[in-house]
Amino acid sequence: MNHLPADVARTLDVLLPEGHPLRAQLPYLRIESSCACGCTAYFTGADAVTGAEIVAEATIGCDGEVLLFAEGGRLSWLEVCSWTDPKLTLSDAARHLLQEPGDPD
Ligand SMILES: [Zn+2]
Repeated sequence: MNHLPADVARTLDVLLPEGHPLRAQLPYLRIESSCACGCTAYFTGADAVTGAEIVAEATIGCDGEVLLFAEGGRLSWLEVCSWTDPKLTLSDAARHLLQEPGDPD
C-alpha cells in the first residue's frame, strides 16, 4: 500500500475500509516515532496528544483492542491496548484482524 511497516499498513487497511474519509491520508502517512514495545506508532510528534480522539477501533478477541486516534482530522497515532498479559503488539493486532493462522486465539 505504501511505505509504512506491514503490520501498521495492514491494521490501518482494516480500520479504514474503502470509502472511509480518513483513508485518503494513508498514502501520505509516515511513522514519526514508535513505542519500544511495539504497541504504538506515532504519525505525528508524540507530544501532539491534546484534543486527539478515537476515530476507529477494533477488538482483538478477548485480549485487547486497537485504537486509531486523530487530531483535528489528521491521523495521529495507532495504539494497541492489552487487557491481558503478555502485551499485544501491532503485529499481533494485524495478524488477528486479518485472521491469519498463527494466532492460537
Ligand atoms: Zn508500548
